[in-house]
This record gives sequence, C-alpha cells and structure tokens, in this order.
Amino acid sequence: MRLWLYNTLSRAKEPVSPRDPNRVTLYSCGPTVYRDAHLGNLRTFLMADWIKRVLRFLGYEVFHVKNITDVGHMRQEMLERGEDKIIAAARKAGLKSREIAEHYTRVFLEDEARLNILPADVFPRATEHISHCIELIKVLIQKGHAYVKGGNVYFDVESFPNYGALSGNILLNLLEAVRVEADPLKRNPQDFTLWKAAEPGREMKWDSPWGEGFPGWHIECSAMSLHYIGEHVDIHTGGVDNIFPHHEDEMAQSEAAVGHRVVGHWVHGQHLLADGAKMAKSAANDYTIRDLEERGYDPLAFRYLCLTVHYRSRLNFTFRALGGAQRGLSHLRRHVEDGAWRDVELPREGPGARWIEEFTRWICHDLALPRALAVVWSMLHDESIPHPLRSRILVHCDQVLGLDLASWPEKSRDLPPEVQEKVRIRHEERSRKNFTAADSLRMELERQGVELRDHAQGTLALRRSRAEWKGAPREISSSGDVPNLLEEEERYDFTVSLVACDNGHEVLRCYEALKAHGGGRRIQTIIVEGGSRDATRRLLQEATCHDPDCLLVLADHRLGEAASRNVALRQALGRIVLLVDPCVEPVGDIFSPVERVLEDREVGVTGAMGLLTKDCQNFEEGEGPEVHAITIYFMAIPRDVVRKAGFMDERFRFYRHLDLDYSFRIRHLGYKAVVAGGLPLKLHPSSLWENMDPEERERRSRANFYIFYRKWHHHTELFG
Ligand code: AMP
Ligand code: ZN
Repeated sequence: MRLWLYNTLSRAKEPVSPRDPNRVTLYSCGPTVYRDAHLGNLRTFLMADWIKRVLRFLGYEVFHVKNITDVGHMRQEMLERGEDKIIAAARKAGLKSREIAEHYTRVFLEDEARLNILPADVFPRATEHISHCIELIKVLIQKGHAYVKGGNVYFDVESFPNYGALSGNILLNLLEAVRVEADPLKRNPQDFTLWKAAEPGREMKWDSPWGEGFPGWHIECSAMSLHYIGEHVDIHTGGVDNIFPHHEDEMAQSEAAVGHRVVGHWVHGQHLLADGAKMAKSAANDYTIRDLEERGYDPLAFRYLCLTVHYRSRLNFTFRALGGAQRGLSHLRRHVEDGAWRDVELPREGPGARWIEEFTRWICHDLALPRALAVVWSMLHDESIPHPLRSRILVHCDQVLGLDLASWPEKSRDLPPEVQEKVRIRHEERSRKNFTAADSLRMELERQGVELRDHAQGTLALRRSRAEWKGAPREISSSGDVPNLLEEEERYDFTVSLVACDNGHEVLRCYEALKAHGGGRRIQTIIVEGGSRDATRRLLQEATCHDPDCLLVLADHRLGEAASRNVALRQALGRIVLLVDPCVEPVGDIFSPVERVLEDREVGVTGAMGLLTKDCQNFEEGEGPEVHAITIYFMAIPRDVVRKAGFMDERFRFYRHLDLDYSFRIRHLGYKAVVAGGLPLKLHPSSLWENMDPEERERRSRANFYIFYRKWHHHTELFG
C-alpha cells in the first residue's frame, strides 16, 4: 500500500512518490528557540512524526531533517510582538542570545522525547549554516532573482512567475499591511528580505559580501534543505500558518536557484486552538508539556488527543478533552500491561490479519488516524481473537500511533523508592489486618498516581496518571460547559458578571458594594474564577457559599475575558445584564440610572464610560449621551438584546477591544449605545492591569485590536 497525502500545492490527495523508491526524504520546519514550544507547535511536529512512522511501517527508509531557527527573525519577532519576558529575564541574568537558543533547543528536544516523537536524523541550526545562506543568495543575485539595496538583499518577486502558487496569496495580507510600515528600499512591497543589514548594537551578525548582517527567516530553510537533502525533497511539512509567507518564499527561493520544482509534497497541519482561538503566546492561551505534567496528565495523553482529530482539521484543546484522552490511553495500556503478548506471533491470515490490513488502509488514506484508532478499538473488542493476540496487534499498530505501549509493562512498574516503601508498609498493615491504616495508605498512593492490585502472592503496584484520580470534574473547561439559559424566564432584575483571577479581594469589594446598593432589587451575581495562583478561589468560595443568588463558576484554567463573560451571559436570568470590572466600586445606587436609560427600548447598551472614534483605530472618551461604544468597566445590556446579539467572540482573550466589538455588534443590530451619566462609582487601580508586564499588555492589546479592526473597519456607518 502507498501513503496518500493531501498536497497543499496541487490542492489534491496524491500518493507519496519518492525519487528513490525505498527512501523518502522529509523536511520539517522546526521550532524557533527563544521560548518554550507550546502544544500547538507540538501538534505540528506530531503530524510529521506520524507521516514518518507510517512510511516506516510501509517499509520505507526515511531521512528526516528538522531545522532549529536560532537566528534571524528573532529580533524581528521581538520587535513585532514585544520582547519576550523570558528573554528579558535572561538578558538581565547576563545570558546571550546563543545561550537562550541553546536552552530552548534542549527543552524542545526533551518535549519531543516526552511525546515519543522520533528524533530527526539531522537538527541543523541556522547559525551553523550562514555560509550556505550567503552562497544561495549569491546564486539568486547572479540569476537575476534578487537585488541589493542599502546593505539588504531582497528577492524580486516579479522575477518568479510562479510566486503565489502555493498559498494563492498574491496580495500582502491586511495584517501585514497594518502592522509593518512599507520598507522604502523594496522595489515592490511583496519583495522579501534574503539578507538584512545589522542595526547598531545587534549581537548576532555575520560578515557577508553586502556588509554585516543576518539572513532572513525563509532563506535558512531553502539553504538547509538543499544542503542536507538536495534538489528533490519528497515531503515538506509545517503548520498552516507557514504556508504564507514562509513556504511561499522558500519555494520561490529554492526553485529560482535550481531552476526546477524542489518539493514533491507540501503538507500542512491545521491549528490547535484553545478557548476557540489559535494557541499562541500572544493570545495567552498557550500551554506547554510541563503545564500538563503539573496537572497530573501524561504527555502521551496529548499525543492520544491529537490522534482523535484529523491533522487537516482544527482541534480545540480543553483539559476535559485531555482527560478523556488520558482515559483512552490508560485503557490501551491496560491491554498490554501484563506483557503476555510478547510471546505471540503476528497473524498472517484470519481476522487478526484483516484488522491490520484495515488499519493500514486508513493510515495510508491521508493519515486518517482517527479512523485507524477506531479500528484498533474495534479489534480490541473482537472476541473471536484470543486476548494476547489482540494485545500483540495493538502493539504492532502502535508503531504508527506512537503511544509507547511496548515499554508499558516495565514503565508501569517503575515506581520511585519512596512509593515502593509505602506499598511495602501497606502490605504489612494489611497482613496484620490493620485495614483502616492500609486503606488510608492506599488512598494516599492513589492520589499520587499509583494503583494497587492485591493478589494472593502479594500486591502489584502500577503507575497511573494522577489526573485520573481526581474524580468527576466539577470545573468547567470552556463556556460551553455551562447550559445556556437565555431562553428561560427572567427571575432577577439584574445579573452582575465578575471575572476573578488572583484578585479575590477586589472582586469581593465589588460584589459586596453591589449587594449593599441593590435597594431591594433581585440581583443575581455570576463570578467566574480560573487560574488563580493565590487564595482567590478559597476566598470567593467562603464569601459566596451562603448566597443562593451568587453563582461561583470554577474553571480548570484561566478562561479568556470573552469566554468568562459568556459563562455569565449563558447563565444570566436577570432582565438586565451588568458587566463590571472588579476595580470599580459602586458607592451608591447605580441601578436606577441604568434602568432609566434602558427604558428607551432603542438603547441596546449603556454604561459609565462611552467612546467615540473617527477611524476605528483611535478611541476617545465621549460625553454622550450617544456614543460609538461603552467600555466594559461598567456595561449594561438588556438580556433580550443579548439574545439577539449572541455571545461574545471568544477570540478576545483579553478585555481590551472586546467591549468595542460587542458594542458595535449591538449597534449593528440598530440599537443605540448611550452613556448613563452621574453613576456613583469609585474607580480603583486595576490589579490585573497593574500586575501585568507592560510588554505583555501591549502584545495582548494588539492581538485584540487586529481582531476588532478586521471585523469592523469596513462598517463605516458605525463610526466617523
Ligand atoms: P515556530 O516555533 O513559531 O516557528 O512554530 C513551529 C511550528 O508550529 C510551525 O510549523 C507553526 O506553523 C506551528 N504552529 C504554531 N502555532 C500553532 C498552533 N496553534 N497549532 C498548530 N501548529 C502551530
Ligand atoms: Zn522553514
């Protein structure tokens, strides 16, 4: 059987046809090593690993190159996204860029090993191939595909008619246009940098025929793939965000240099999302392998989770889904735990062989791993096959799945000495019939992730994931985990929404003040807490547990601002929903002015502070009464307007621009935004804002701004 894969270039599924019939060459765009790889990055590396494993399973030899980007756009990215906290810290600690790169390279290789990703044959570092980049740039200049300007070298996009073939993208995308000013040295704004002159004070720079500088990001992948693999690369992988500009540019460079097509198959993995948005550091929804381990999950549970969704579909990461994956993994492990399959031969015919054939068919079908996994599960339930043989087939298929099941019999018994000691003591207590002591030890061990099995001959202790012993989760993973009550009858005058994270005292101050000034109104309070590292959760639990009208919703991580607000919108039973920032303290009756403004049914949103804008970019405070938007410090919306406007856009992880987006949405329905004047409010400094690193604020604000701007700047009827 041959492996068929979707080729981004031809937009069709094609069989992988290596130049050398027995050996496949594979190039994967590797990590940028100035920060931890997050689970999204790792999903993309898992995809390449599965391609490699399938090819090996089919009998091919695979030569795999994965580059390490340790130079080049590091500085560029920092300028664009705001300098990384960790780099800043490293700088303060007196570390050099190279040491930072070395540190994160090491962490990356460890992460890959934890996920049982087979190491590439070569991990070339960009810094070790600067001369290859320079040689390649020289060729491009000679052949008339590149030009030198002010110490920079640019690729001349017009000289390469095939430009745009991969991405279908011939216009600079809007985002680029907004964030980067056009470089006046370029002949054409689409031309991209091959070599960049070093700015004063730059630490990582090299000599070149064009002066001191550093290579562009794309050239490194052309140079290294041509160097290690040659002019024919069978498969090239990356995430979909690499298609443009990175791979479009790489394709132009390599093909312009050698004069023919270089890559056979371009394969791109879809994104991993978290809380509905692409996992990214700038969205602050990124998790690492260590985050999973801290919460008691096994890194391989993440691998299992990725098996359950096809690589060309988005996968929304939640801890709940991860918990499900962890249980699936543990279940598979139980099938191989006793090791009895080791003496069993693989079947050549009969039902066992047919299961293997079906499994192989699905993995070859554009890497249909969810289907292949389902086949494995059906096989495990096939009573016509003896148990050890089923386990043997499972281990065979696991060469592709990569869950490391073959070593589970040993790993499951490999427990730290202090655990073994506890197991021994418990065994003694049990023999002496001290069952209470023995049981409490068993429970303690279970919490640490150890399962005990008592046999006549003794007790077998087995490693389990800690996450599995937590019992049924009482925490939510996403806003969708709470039921939507918007169609139910109103039961309150107001629903107040508060969001808590490491700010318990602030939230309580606001909550108590609102209750004190309610004036006999029926008020429902909904507080969403997730991700607090201080005593916030306990504090809120104690303060609200006797209030039947207060709903404290606990999340298993910090939900984004929009998702947290959506929890309240879904659960709101008040006629008016009030979104309040906990830094606001009501010092009098704030409810009556809101009610008065909302008596006018044409008003869809009101609040303490209004904003006006001429260009959808710069906002100024507006006296009102009518304004373009109301800020989320104190924002009131009738519940029936919420019903029409829908829930908030959860891509807004941070509060900034979320209020503008929601105000615009309401106004787009034809409602007015009106300021409620003279609200008795006291504004305190916001602890979340104060405690956030300025770079971080800037990065998050910008991420939100782009989402907002792209959605609304065409709607000129809403501003100006
Ligand atoms: P970087 O270290 O930023 O160069 O990214 C390494 C790889 O991860 C690239 O192939 C990206 O396309 C990919 N990637 C980045 N974010 C995500 C995400 N949220 N989901 C899946 N892949 C991603
Ligand atoms: Zn690359």
